[in-house]
Amino acid sequence: MTYPIADLHCDLLSFLAAVPGADAFSKDQIACAFPWLQEGGVRMQVMAIYTNVDHSSMKMAGKQAKIFYDLLRKEEKTVRKFDADFLKNPASDERIGIIASVENAAGFGHEKATWSEIYKQFDAMLTTVGQLAYISLTHHTENRFGGGNYIEGVGLKEDGKRLLDYMAGKKIPIDLSHTSDLLAEGILNHIDLHHLPIPVIASHSNFRAIWDHKRNLSDEFAKEIVQRGGIIGVNFLREFLDRDVPERLFEHLLHGFDLSEDAICFGADFFYTKNFPDKSRHPIYFPLAENAGKYPSILDSLSQHLPESQLKKLSHENVFNFYQKLWT
Ligand SMILES: [Zn+2]
Repeated sequence: MTYPIADLHCDLLSFLAAVPGADAFSKDQIACAFPWLQEGGVRMQVMAIYTNVDHSSMKMAGKQAKIFYDLLRKEEKTVRKFDADFLKNPASDERIGIIASVENAAGFGHEKATWSEIYKQFDAMLTTVGQLAYISLTHHTENRFGGGNYIEGVGLKEDGKRLLDYMAGKKIPIDLSHTSDLLAEGILNHIDLHHLPIPVIASHSNFRAIWDHKRNLSDEFAKEIVQRGGIIGVNFLREFLDRDVPERLFEHLLHGFDLSEDAICFGADFFYTKNFPDKSRHPIYFPLAENAGKYPSILDSLSQHLPESQLKKLSHENVFNFYQKLWT
């Protein structure tokens, strides 16, 4: 049995934008190169627009939005847009449905940008990419919107509230994968206090109940996501699974099923690793999940624990159902 795969996070766009000679078709360069996605049966892939918190963040985000736009035109034999039309008949062709997301709202506004510049950038990026799969306010660090996942004591700032207010009603989920705990709490409270129509997800996060790491979700936040009808994509990075035990991947996935069989999905997080500075993090991935070609063998291993109906939910149905509900 082979399953179509939907995946909530990869960093192909920042790789194409930043690495000289980057080739989306080179299997040697990046683990989410198109041939790997095809080998793994990937039919839907979220492509993050990732930026650091610095003065060039808006320019870099614009560049990646344009790369996404160009992929849809120049590589139309390989990819098509993941949208409401795609969902009407996902099996109608073999191409990979792609959609952009924003990983770090610094892409909308650097620390000194005015709000009219931020609104303008937001609208322009949305026009370029068509729709966003989600927005993450922060990455690891702090920015004008809030505290990232390695920052303690910084939650949702006034600018973060303002961006949430602007997102509301635009059918774009907010992503908790890179929030500090305080920021996650602040986002949920702000949404509830003002009854904002903003779905909540975690695009590429594992569980602290299985591996206690700041970058992973507490069960408290995971349950909040589930209760709000959101989805949680399990991350393949060794650092967030368990530094020594590859099979912990299956425990994270099964823990996701314990929380809800309708929320768990993939958020593998393949990125360009060749210039990753921290040597203790190498290898970044365990061999069993080292590229997008590995989804079939991962699902095969899981078939000892899960029935076919649940493997379908994990592989793509939960993601397709989530966006179907959101967009129609
Ligand atoms: Zn990330």
